[in-house]
Amino acid sequence: MSTTWNLWHGCTKVSAGCRNCYVYRRDAEFGKDSSIVTKTKAFDLPIRKDRKGEYKVKPEDGVVYTCFTSDFFHPDADEWRKDAWAMMRTRADLDFFFVTKRPERFHVNLPEDWGEGYKNVHICCTCENQYMADKRLPIFLELPIRHKSIIHEPMLGPIIIERFIEKYGKEIDQVVCGGESGEEARLCDYAWVMDTMCQCVKYEVPFHFKQTGANFKRGEQVYHIPRKDQQIQAAKAKIDYMPPERLRKELYENEEQRYPDLYQLSLPL
Ligand code: SF4
Repeated sequence: MSTTWNLWHGCTKVSAGCRNCYVYRRDAEFGKDSSIVTKTKAFDLPIRKDRKGEYKVKPEDGVVYTCFTSDFFHPDADEWRKDAWAMMRTRADLDFFFVTKRPERFHVNLPEDWGEGYKNVHICCTCENQYMADKRLPIFLELPIRHKSIIHEPMLGPIIIERFIEKYGKEIDQVVCGGESGEEARLCDYAWVMDTMCQCVKYEVPFHFKQTGANFKRGEQVYHIPRKDQQIQAAKAKIDYMPPERLRKELYENEEQRYPDLYQLSLPL
């Protein structure tokens, strides 16, 4: 189970991975301008209470997937972000997970009591190609965040992150790969995914192949895969990896170490 909390909507494109942004594609169907960032009616969802005075969103509702129709660090949301952080602090009993392409804006309006990071906040940085990995990861991996993941989605080429995971591997919860969906989807090559998996195995970092995308190359063959089958086909590859030591900790020692269920999630990023 999970909960979605889209507290603001709209975004501006910042890099190659944004070209076929899901938010833009969906808004276009309704003639809506996705570049205008607006607060949504769900802004205060985590702190809403029912008639009994109890929070409507319960811990058993699962991970709160946050800000999936925008970027949490978008400059047009700077003022609102203060309240967003405050709600996450108030709901320490919930786990919040979001994805960003703007790690360089992390410090803007960060709460004073952030310290080494709220225990219930998991942030994932998108690096769709080598250029963005080299640009974003040196910033992202130095940030005080307790739960960090890296996602190559849409994966647009081979990406070497060895130097990063060699240094920061123990602080990375997961590296995830996935292709692109939609009619204009760019190709994802299985060789790139496999190469990332091998890097993760070498440095003992958890790895997850999330979905193939619509145009998936394996060997010399290109497969056109319907949306409904993209996660299934990725799972069939059976290349996910969890270092035994982390598995043991997750199972027996460290209940705070929680991996969001990315298997069920359709990221717009
Ligand atoms: S892909 Fe993400 S960062 Fe890019 S425009 Fe869409 S929501 Fe914004």
